[in-house]
Amino acid sequence: METLPPSFYAQFTLIIGGLDSVKARSWMNATLLQLYHDGAIESGLPIPFIDGGTEGLKGNARVIIPEVTPCFDCLDYLFPKQTTFPLCTIANTPRLPEHCIEYAHQVLFVDHHHRPVDTDSGDDVSWVFNAAKARADEYRIDGVTFSLTVGVVKNVIPAIASTNAIIAAVCVTEALKLTQGIGEFLNNYLLYNGQGFHFMCTQFEACDDCRTCQQMVGQERIVVRREDTVKAWLHGMQASGREVSSIIVNGRGVYFSFNPEAAVIGLRMHEIGSDTLDVTFKEGGAKSLLLEFEE
Ligand SMILES: [Zn+2]
Repeated sequence: METLPPSFYAQFTLIIGGLDSVKARSWMNATLLQLYHDGAIESGLPIPFIDGGTEGLKGNARVIIPEVTPCFDCLDYLFPKQTTFPLCTIANTPRLPEHCIEYAHQVLFVDHHHRPVDTDSGDDVSWVFNAAKARADEYRIDGVTFSLTVGVVKNVIPAIASTNAIIAAVCVTEALKLTQGIGEFLNNYLLYNGQGFHFMCTQFEACDDCRTCQQMVGQERIVVRREDTVKAWLHGMQASGREVSSIIVNGRGVYFSFNPEAAVIGLRMHEIGSDTLDVTFKEGGAKSLLLEFEE
């Protein structure tokens, strides 16, 4: 998969995402946070990320502004883990059409063909459908259809174009408000349900131990000379009033100020083996330093 460099995104005023996975949203979120954090955006302003998503008749839209609103990952508990059915239920006490389809998919097909279902094969999916239908009839369960079988087997969530259109309109409205300064922008989460037409807005809080935004707060980009020794760098830091008392690289303590002759101090900065150093300062405080090398 080709990935655009983070700098590509720095040129935009805002970004509207219509992404199809949690992973892709999380990446976009982290990229925009990092750009702002590193001062890599020419205007100096954070780039808002307007994220829309739908699932059948339901949808949501979020406005994520780096270091202003919670980030995408702050709310990752909102995403339910992939639904799976316990095998004992689908084998012994099926109650839903999905249980019958999963049983035909996971058990009957494999027993019969001695291989897993090829979800792109029409013949395979038809076989699963017929087996599931027979099982559903046996347990007097309604609702096993061919399209549901395709959905369960391929793990597809149906997309409804009108839901997409509603969420897209919400995202564009937010873009308009943010760029034109008209009205208050969505702060920060909107949930839509087409089943009964409910809109609900919630102001979520940032998560204190968010792995993405809270870690970045303690991170600092620092320019170092490639060929400087760690010893020279430590002296330079001390001269600028930031005496380092410990350095941790990849989770291993390599330097402590009580052992000033540690092996690491003879290395060049680019030889440390990581471009992230976790340091503590004599004055107090800890930082994760992101090294940027210059000649
Ligand atoms: Zn966060």
